[in-house]
Amino acid sequence: MLEMREIAPDIFFLKVPVPLTVGDINVYIFRGDVPTLLDTGTNTPGVFDLIQTALNKLKIKKLEQVILTHWHVDHAGTAHLFAGQGARILMNMKEYFRWKSFMEGETDDLFREWAREEAATSSISLIDDMCKAYGKLRQKMTVLPDHVEEIVPMQILQAGNYFLQSILTPGHTEGHLAFFENRGKRLFSGDMLLPDMISYPDIWREEGKFTSGLVSHLQSLDIMEKLDANAYFPSHGEPQLDPALRCQETRNEIHKQAVQYDSTRSVFENAVRLNHGTENLAGLFMRLHYVYGWKKIFEQNHKSLDG
Ligand SMILES: [Zn+2]
Repeated sequence: MLEMREIAPDIFFLKVPVPLTVGDINVYIFRGDVPTLLDTGTNTPGVFDLIQTALNKLKIKKLEQVILTHWHVDHAGTAHLFAGQGARILMNMKEYFRWKSFMEGETDDLFREWAREEAATSSISLIDDMCKAYGKLRQKMTVLPDHVEEIVPMQILQAGNYFLQSILTPGHTEGHLAFFENRGKRLFSGDMLLPDMISYPDIWREEGKFTSGLVSHLQSLDIMEKLDANAYFPSHGEPQLDPALRCQETRNEIHKQAVQYDSTRSVFENAVRLNHGTENLAGLFMRLHYVYGWKKIFEQNHKSLDG
């Protein structure tokens, strides 16, 4: 059964099951002058066929382009297959390079370095196991396309019969893009505004120093709130009205969660305590990311209090 529906004239919502804890991902199909797919699902059996079935049903013979919100496997996993059919793949180049380094195992090195410098853990074998549990599994769910085209922030892209403006919304990843359809005031929010959860913040380097995406996430919420959108179309969960309200809720929720950070302990100790031990490695990996974000928010608050 295809779980597909028209959410606006010639814009279609399609729910795609993926073998990750999140369960499924929403992709959006724009029919019209420039047939477009927004995000793609994982490169796992059935996913590409499901989207293909949907395109056939909509009588879209050739997809002109695939637009990606970010590089994660559930969003970009089958892009190479559409590229093989002649579709252009469009994304923020920051995301492409992160994707490339993920495929080459370099993100593991970055995480190891971060764990040593910022989380204060001496258990390198545990960090290695975590990388294995998290990364290696996911590497099988995605293939890096040979060639992609760049989307820069604030770029206007035609999709179907609509125009989308790319909105740089870092947090979950460094180069995450949301897309705003101005005429209908619709926000395609990717993983940066979700109705039922808050996506985990990535860790990256800025001017040589490690930083948490959670700090950027708060700023991205401000940006999305000011767009004056009527509805948002997330990558997970159902489309919703009132994105500004959800931006406020998410911001409040992040601040509320951040209080759990215990500044007398290391990031690693905080994460282990919240994870009730080190057994659940995927859980610990996530928690390390959140706790680091809470630490950064804590430091920021204290800096502004001192100042
Ligand atoms: Zn993601």
